[in-house]
Amino acid sequence: MTEVRQKMIVANWKMNGAFDMAYSLLEEVLDGTRNLDRVDIVICPPYVYLHYVAQLIAANPRVSLGAQNCSEHSAGAYTGEVSSSMLKDAGCKYVICGHSERRQYHAETDAEVARKTVATIEQHLAPITCVGETLEERQSGKTRMVVERQIDAVLERCGRELIDQVTFAYEPVWAIGTGRSATPDEAQDVHRIIRTRIGGLSERAAASCKILYGGSVTGDNAAAVLSQADVDGCLVGGASLKSAQFIEICKAAV
Ligand code: PEP
Repeated sequence: MTEVRQKMIVANWKMNGAFDMAYSLLEEVLDGTRNLDRVDIVICPPYVYLHYVAQLIAANPRVSLGAQNCSEHSAGAYTGEVSSSMLKDAGCKYVICGHSERRQYHAETDAEVARKTVATIEQHLAPITCVGETLEERQSGKTRMVVERQIDAVLERCGRELIDQVTFAYEPVWAIGTGRSATPDEAQDVHRIIRTRIGGLSERAAASCKILYGGSVTGDNAAAVLSQADVDGCLVGGASLKSAQFIEICKAAV
């Protein structure tokens, strides 16, 4: 039987926002998506707004809260870090692990991203674990090698028991915030590589795991990428800060 994977649209606000911005943006997004019950919407604000956003979305079960990062540790002397159990306390259901900006600016390794993925699952939260190649890696024909290496670290750490709890996001680094999205075919090719790799560990997980695409998704290009067989949703950065754009992307997922 073919698995039906409900589409998911994730808003990554990155380090943007303020209380009034969160209020007005969410008011518009909640209103504009109120009839869309066949898409999972996840809002990932900066840590300090998590609790506030949790309150704003509380009456909307189709909209969930996510964090942009978490510590791999459960507690202790890690100044400035936030654990997955704290994120759970704040009302989170999802955690983005290994975003390319974390890998690039905070030197997160494949192994660390895999440990964060497991730390998230241990708190019964759902990791959205990001992979993707740089422009240089794509141009030198290394896309498959890089993505498989990043995926393998997660597969190894999670094993068969946990892997079906991971949502993956393919985010080519060259497409993030550049206005240059991958073409639907380029995205589908890599999503297939990822699903096949998961299938090497667990056929069941390969069928059920969601694989999101992220990288300059807008209201104009979302439908085309979402129509691909192995694209189960989008991780949206810039366009998630514009209510009209974000609503269009959510509509394209239904
Ligand atoms: C992201 O932050 O994960 C992202 C995909 O950003 P953008 O949509 O702006 O490219």
